[in-house]
Amino acid sequence: MYKNALRGGVRTAKQAWKLKNEIGKLNLEVAKANTEFEQHLCEESAHLNELISSKQFVKVQKQFYRDYSSVSLGAPLKNSDAPLLGDLCNQYRAILAYTSADVVPGQKKGQPQHQQSRRTHTQQETRVQQQEEVDGMAQKQEFKRLPTNVVPKHYELLLQPDLEAFTFKGKTIVQIQVKEPTTQIVLNALDIIIDEAVLEFECTKLKADRIVYSTEAETATLEFEQGIPAETAGVLHMSFTGELNDKMKGFYRSKYFSASGEERYAGVTQFEATDARRCFPCWDEPAIKATFDITLVVPKNRVALSNMPVKKEDALDGGLRRVRFDRTPIMSTYLVACVVGEYDFVEGKSEDGIIVRVFTPVGKREQGQFALDVATKVLPYYKDYFNIAYPLPKMDLIAISDFSAGAMENWGLVTYRETFVLVDPKNTSLMRKQSIALTVGHEIAHQWFGNLVTMEWWTHLWLNEGYASFVEFLCVHHLFPEYDIWTQFVTDMYTRALELDSLKNSHPIEVSVGHPSEIDEIFDEISYNKGASVIRMLHDYIGEDDFRKGMNIYLTRHQYGNTCTEDLWTALQEASSKNVAEVMSSWIKYKGFPVVSVESEQQGKSQRILRLSQRKFTADGSQADEDCLWVVPISVSTSRNPTAIAKTFLLDKPSMEVVLDGVSASDWIKINPGTVGYYRTRYSKEMLEQLMPAVKNMELPPLDRLGLIDDMFAMVQAGHASTVDVLALVEGYRNETNYTVWTAITNSLTNLHILISHTDLMEDFHRFGRNLYEPVAQRLGWEPREGENHLDTLLRSLVLARLVSFRSSEVIEVARKRFRSHINGTNPLPADLRNTCYKAALQDGDEQVFEEMLALYRTTDLHEEQDRISRALGCSTDVKLLRRVIDFAMSGEVRAQDSVFVIVAVAINPKGRDMAWEFFKSNNKQLLERYQGGFLLTRLIKYLIENYASEERAKEVEEFFKVTQIPGCERTVSQAVETIRLNAAWLERDRAKLSTYLKSV
Ligand SMILES: [Zn+2]
Repeated sequence: MYKNALRGGVRTAKQAWKLKNEIGKLNLEVAKANTEFEQHLCEESAHLNELISSKQFVKVQKQFYRDYSSVSLGAPLKNSDAPLLGDLCNQYRAILAYTSADVVPGQKKGQPQHQQSRRTHTQQETRVQQQEEVDGMAQKQEFKRLPTNVVPKHYELLLQPDLEAFTFKGKTIVQIQVKEPTTQIVLNALDIIIDEAVLEFECTKLKADRIVYSTEAETATLEFEQGIPAETAGVLHMSFTGELNDKMKGFYRSKYFSASGEERYAGVTQFEATDARRCFPCWDEPAIKATFDITLVVPKNRVALSNMPVKKEDALDGGLRRVRFDRTPIMSTYLVACVVGEYDFVEGKSEDGIIVRVFTPVGKREQGQFALDVATKVLPYYKDYFNIAYPLPKMDLIAISDFSAGAMENWGLVTYRETFVLVDPKNTSLMRKQSIALTVGHEIAHQWFGNLVTMEWWTHLWLNEGYASFVEFLCVHHLFPEYDIWTQFVTDMYTRALELDSLKNSHPIEVSVGHPSEIDEIFDEISYNKGASVIRMLHDYIGEDDFRKGMNIYLTRHQYGNTCTEDLWTALQEASSKNVAEVMSSWIKYKGFPVVSVESEQQGKSQRILRLSQRKFTADGSQADEDCLWVVPISVSTSRNPTAIAKTFLLDKPSMEVVLDGVSASDWIKINPGTVGYYRTRYSKEMLEQLMPAVKNMELPPLDRLGLIDDMFAMVQAGHASTVDVLALVEGYRNETNYTVWTAITNSLTNLHILISHTDLMEDFHRFGRNLYEPVAQRLGWEPREGENHLDTLLRSLVLARLVSFRSSEVIEVARKRFRSHINGTNPLPADLRNTCYKAALQDGDEQVFEEMLALYRTTDLHEEQDRISRALGCSTDVKLLRRVIDFAMSGEVRAQDSVFVIVAVAINPKGRDMAWEFFKSNNKQLLERYQGGFLLTRLIKYLIENYASEERAKEVEEFFKVTQIPGCERTVSQAVETIRLNAAWLERDRAKLSTYLKSV
């Protein structure tokens, strides 16, 4: 019902119908009392006649009568909303509201900057006092959500950015419901100045006497002298101004260059999690949903985009243009979006009729083609998967040149970092293309899961992110079966989650958060990767058909509403008749995961008794403090049929016995086939020895070979096994052909590499690495074979890059030659090999090579290539050059969104580790100012410190962050310090044995 209404343009017709009724019955005496009224009435009447005469109106009017009692623009009407139709006076206000929102005088050039406007503002008339609340008290106030006595129903929002003075002004007119009598309205506002706030209700007009801001609570309180009675439907008018900031949050500016090389700025919004309040005063919580009519006033030659399609455009004086967009469905504030700038686009249509456009930098239209192809296919895929159509009439994807995250799922207008959406066929690596497909799949999944149904509060963020991170793989598997993407899920998502989650300083998936700085910090591997991993486990447990059925129940039942984790369990439980809530609650509520120890005993010729026990896995091998018991769905395979599941059961007590039939004494048994269960497995020695031949001859499927080695390395780090034993085991993988298995090995060896960098065993370790990777490199060679499969191309890049790190002279020599012909233009490198060759050239390269790389950086305008080059710079072994890399990272040549990654490249290089840390210590204020907290800074801090391996460093880091408060990074610092201590213990434990082993191979 709702979808048709929205697509049919009911919005305008509905309004017209209302106006027609209301104007007819309007009390003219009241009207005359307002001198402005006649003018507005006149304007609206003209607008109205135009609407009423439209064909659409007649058609839609009937629909409107039918729907209005139960549904309004997709928002289920409550009883208290119904009188709206009869409340003439209030409707009259709404008409005024609508009209006046459009009246915006042309913006003057050279508008003062934000600080200045703050001053100007405070000099304003005294009737409306504006005060910054003095939170003089030393202690932090306890975080409180917004009061619920006043709620918004609908926003008219007008924004007018000044792309030269970097300011914006805006107006919002909010239809509100006052539920309890009050003299104040509390809403969110941060770094904006509300110039005026006027509330109109029941023919009363009240101006806020004071507007009190709290920076700490990020709120503005509008205080009125007269009380507002309960059950009032009113209209709140606010005008405000703000700075178009450079912090990549709220309404911000993003730099780009015109075709002629002129520096220009776009205005872009990024509101998740809590930054809509930096753009307009609003009730900025995910559960306070409303509809939005957005209007942008922009220079006439700029593209203006928002969530919905353009409804009407008008030319204004002063070279401006007013763009009004259709009304949105009811939605959360964090999903509202606007972009104003210069872009080209490619356009397509999905088979179910949704218009899809991909906006690119000017002149790079063709780079949007790949994402367009993916998006047009993904929309019908999800429609079919969820059995619910995409709720909006259009889907725009846009590449933003300054963007802190990877992408943002704003409803109908998804914003992306350029490298997460643009594909240049000549210069984009296969790996990047794959991530782009995944990212597009992820963001479009959110259009249902997140946008249509939204978490009630940020505590349930994992629902959004874990789910989308799971579904992106479902959809890429569907579109690109050749990517073998589910195998990659295990190395990309699952093992990374386990690694972080084994720390004492991990957190449960569902974590209670309040203040925005806490919310930022949970956009981490636990919410995304662990969330996706436990959903994958659940999907496996209840099966594809019931999972799908449950998703449809969940999305249908809660559409346009908000949910908690339990709502998802209820739906999946209904669909599957399995006790989902009971199985899942331990995975959501506890931090960490279990290690399942298993031993077996043969009984007669064909029975095997399995003895399993579970306990919490800890990264340092210690006994866990908490007494956790998980409900673990266990499956088992055997050598009788390595790809089939022989038995499944739930391990819901500390230990149990299970009997496997049809298994002989010589058969191997594998726990957790497919590496689907979110736990580690620890086999008895006998069981492990039986499995090893199946690894060597690759009888065991890839995901099982991978899971096995990854579990082994985890046991080593926890001190349950010796590094040397596992390295001997790794040699069994020498003939391995699968890319993902190699990725798992490489990840584990990289951790070991960090340890070794604190010893004098580097050369021996390099020799070990060369021996391991050379056979596969020889098999693959440098040139792709005709019709080569996708994973072999990825494997070639991986293996050659490793051999460069392991100082293989043969590989380095070829790589340098290829680099030379790339630089002099005789034979450009294929994108998949550039990383390897750049690193080979830079690793032992001199200043000349360094300069050549910088020159290359300066000539490319493809963000992906700039990333590749700037991150490769960090692998130089010349300390002087590394210093220059850091300076370069902080220079105007590298965008703030990228600097962090360039510094990280220096930090993870053992030669640059100390320098990067010192740099951070002396420049943390500048960095904090640059990023205003946020996850880029958090990520930088993680990589700067976690690769140390001594108690002294652990203490130093702790000390530093005790003195230097960086809000929002507390958990990251604790995790990294814990990792330093783990490294130290590991090194201490295995150093001597490692030395003997590495020198002997
Ligand atoms: Zn997401």
